[in-house]
Amino acid sequence: MFEKYPAEHIIIRPPVEAYSVLIAVTGGCSWNRCLFCGTYKGMYGTTQDYAIRPIDDVKKDIDQAAKYNYHGFPVFLAGGNPTSAPTEYLAEIIKYVRVKLRDVQRVSCYSKALDVLRKSDEELKTLANAGLDIVYMGLESGSNKVLRLMKKGTNAESFIKAGKRLLNAGINLSLYIILGLGGQKYSEEHVKETARVLTAINPTIFRFRTLNISPSVPLWENLKSGEFTLLSPLENLKEERNIIANLGDNVTSQVFNDHVSNYCDIESVNIKEDREMFIKTLDSYIQSNRIKKMARKNLDRM
Ligand code: SF4
Repeated sequence: MFEKYPAEHIIIRPPVEAYSVLIAVTGGCSWNRCLFCGTYKGMYGTTQDYAIRPIDDVKKDIDQAAKYNYHGFPVFLAGGNPTSAPTEYLAEIIKYVRVKLRDVQRVSCYSKALDVLRKSDEELKTLANAGLDIVYMGLESGSNKVLRLMKKGTNAESFIKAGKRLLNAGINLSLYIILGLGGQKYSEEHVKETARVLTAINPTIFRFRTLNISPSVPLWENLKSGEFTLLSPLENLKEERNIIANLGDNVTSQVFNDHVSNYCDIESVNIKEDREMFIKTLDSYIQSNRIKKMARKNLDRM
């Protein structure tokens, strides 16, 4: 039904990597069971099986990037979770990037918490020393109830352990939070527990996304049956406000609303310093009639 793309064909990257050199390292996602995610399940009219690419093929792509003078750009190692690959393989690729391409601004990739936990502290340091600057990880929610409901395959304590170990190894961490992921039923729990996990980790960055459900994701069935209820734009903004308000005083993360699914675009380079401003701005959105009347975006992709 859907076209199946090979591992060397890149399907997604974070918006912040829009102008980066994309080098496919793995294909698909080794988990691929999250109910809200259709990335490799047909959301883009395509599917992709999990695979680790042969290292020589990856190196050939890096050689090509060098040949076409893609120097001075950030490099994104693509695939749902390249950190699932063996450490030596990944370190060799990162070092090769840094040898072949000049003035690389940063090297980054997606990562799953369980991949990180499978690696020793020495292995994480090896990746940091090779030049892995930052990983993007979908925390989605700090609530174990929500994580279980969504079949995330990881619990809050694993996220905390993985997050702290990455930061201790010298790798920056950008976490994604999905507003509305607990639906109406677990909204309060989602807010409270997400703030708790963010406080425990104090990630370099956290970014908000807002839940949209397309027909290609398994959660669509729960929505149609009435088992799951989406939040309104106003309710999503209230969740964001309350997550920020519930953060501990130690949290110094950068915060972004840098996704098309969001209902605001407020940013902070240090939420400890900007917390009051952030909350006041969100309150002004929450009190505005425009937001109260606003219809959901209902994007067909995230
Ligand atoms: S959200 Fe991430 S871990 Fe879950 S299925 Fe999608 S790519 Fe895989």
